[in-house]
Amino acid sequence: MSDKVTTASLLQSVFGYREFRGRQREIIDHVSAGGDALVLMPTGGGKSLCYQIPALLRQGTAIVVSPLIALMQDQVDGLRQLGVKAAFINSSLPWETARQYEDALVRGEYDLVYVAPERLCSEGFLSLLDQAQLSLFAIDEAHCVSQWGHDFRPEYLRLAMLAERFAEVPRIALTATADATTRNEILDRLQLRRAKVFISSFDRPNIRYRIVPKINARRQLLRFLREEHPEESGIVYCLSRRRVEETAGFLVREGLLALPYHAGLTTEVRAEHQQRFLREEGVIMVATVAFGMGIDKPDVRFVVHLDIPKSLEAYYQETGRAGRDGLPAEAWMAYGLGDVVGIRQLLAQSQADERIKRIEHHKLEALLGYCETTGCRRQVLLRYFGETLEQPCGNCDNCLDPVETWEGSQEAQMALSCVYRTGQRFGVGHLVDVLRGKSNPRIESLGHRHLSTFGIGDHLDERQWKSVFRQLTAAGFLQVDVEGYGSLRLTEKCRPVLRGEEKIRFRKELPLPRNKTETGRTQVGVPADPQAQALWEALRILRRRLAEEQNVPPYIVFNDVTLAGIVERCPTDEWALMEVTGIGEAKLARYGRAILVVVREHLEGVAS
Ligand code: ADP
Ligand code: ZN
Repeated sequence: MSDKVTTASLLQSVFGYREFRGRQREIIDHVSAGGDALVLMPTGGGKSLCYQIPALLRQGTAIVVSPLIALMQDQVDGLRQLGVKAAFINSSLPWETARQYEDALVRGEYDLVYVAPERLCSEGFLSLLDQAQLSLFAIDEAHCVSQWGHDFRPEYLRLAMLAERFAEVPRIALTATADATTRNEILDRLQLRRAKVFISSFDRPNIRYRIVPKINARRQLLRFLREEHPEESGIVYCLSRRRVEETAGFLVREGLLALPYHAGLTTEVRAEHQQRFLREEGVIMVATVAFGMGIDKPDVRFVVHLDIPKSLEAYYQETGRAGRDGLPAEAWMAYGLGDVVGIRQLLAQSQADERIKRIEHHKLEALLGYCETTGCRRQVLLRYFGETLEQPCGNCDNCLDPVETWEGSQEAQMALSCVYRTGQRFGVGHLVDVLRGKSNPRIESLGHRHLSTFGIGDHLDERQWKSVFRQLTAAGFLQVDVEGYGSLRLTEKCRPVLRGEEKIRFRKELPLPRNKTETGRTQVGVPADPQAQALWEALRILRRRLAEEQNVPPYIVFNDVTLAGIVERCPTDEWALMEVTGIGEAKLARYGRAILVVVREHLEGVAS
């Protein structure tokens, strides 16, 4: 690149963006000037630009370390679309091709080269790098050095040696993992103690958080997908492989385009499903947490949790895969008593030492607190990650439909004494039957018909009682038996309630299913006006064709934000088209004409 180019002109001419987001400018200036940096930014925050622009500004080649071979291709395809000289070198390439690329690297033909950490750290590759001129090292997904996170990659630890071996080359590490422990581990383990740390807000304002009480999870899911996200792409997380298979099978039988993904499938099947998720439109990926890291697909419109996630950290990371493009997206979770019981059991069975147990306990309480909160969910989430959001967000279920609560001190007493009278040996199903005065052989044989709590609670239905038990358990009044049958016992916390000294309010569960107008959602991007809709569809067809011709995902040609920009402005010449976000010089040259033809045809059709 010539000396004249400036950071701002690159942003417009190469990437087609008007302005920097958040701290991008500061980071780019710092790294371009040769400084080391650690960048913490939420998913979709725009991390890639932070090393891509310095790579173009500085002399030499930037080496980008990325843990996932499968995704390098898309990243490089995306850059090539922008006219940037980029390549990846990994084990998926035939030997001779890799060799050619390596030679080209040494000759300085690339602005950026993507490699996996194990290749980078091999002696052969390092000696190539000795001969090349390097502009910087970018270490993506830097939290992979953390042994505590679930993305730990031992190869990442070896990257520390870059500090000594290439002492002159600036290094920038990037991650979307927010907590302070991970941050410190990255600084230590990558020898980045002198790096400047850039922390952005972790808020994802375009994601709407919703939690619904779990009643019939599958049916609820189906309704959510059909009514609120028809033909959109998203991820449905389940806890186990079996549940993934069952859920995917169910959705397919219902006529939806769903694919399973979990560690029990062969590498080929997994790769194929991932590829289809990236390349086709409207694919629903039903997956365990094995799926996700580094999924750069920008138009994931929803992330569903059919089972409670492991922690709030995991939840935030998983839901963060939605809406990278900044358009509205949803994080939707179905949560029920079973989830609370499961979590409480895990905790009780933990073999960890006292200190770790306390931490686990704290984390689980935070997770349950989030699920049960009647206030703004985003405030709870951000507070957990050490940020404060002054005002309720206006974009979570509790903000949109304020939760009603009801005075339930008496019901709490009924529930707790029923646990006590039945000997603290039974699970919720039985307890609810006793409270509601249902007769069945078990109740008869146990003599529970004669208990003082038999039938005292028939003013609530089964669902309401389950909700009461769930909330009492989540709040720590009841404890789940360690033996694993889910029987409930009283805790110390119960005393004041049983004595009538403590009042209890329960959240009123919304009658389900909610109807669509309540959430006020329309499909993302798709304009409401029928004429604009016709143009949107025509552009989508064009995009699909261009993508298929080049064998790349549609969003690499141009994403939905760009599509919406074209529909909004209806550009009739190249100047007007350049104004649309995401259209830089290379894309203008490549697709400008085809886009303008579609727009003109559309305008003629409207006029006639
Ligand atoms: P991250 O790696 O942090 O998850 P990306 O680098 O993939 O995020 O960027 C997310 C999306 O935001 C991409 O579609 C990218 O093109 C877009 N983007 C990044 N920076 C800007 C900007 N300054 N203006 C407009 N769009 C941007
Ligand atoms: Zn809110």
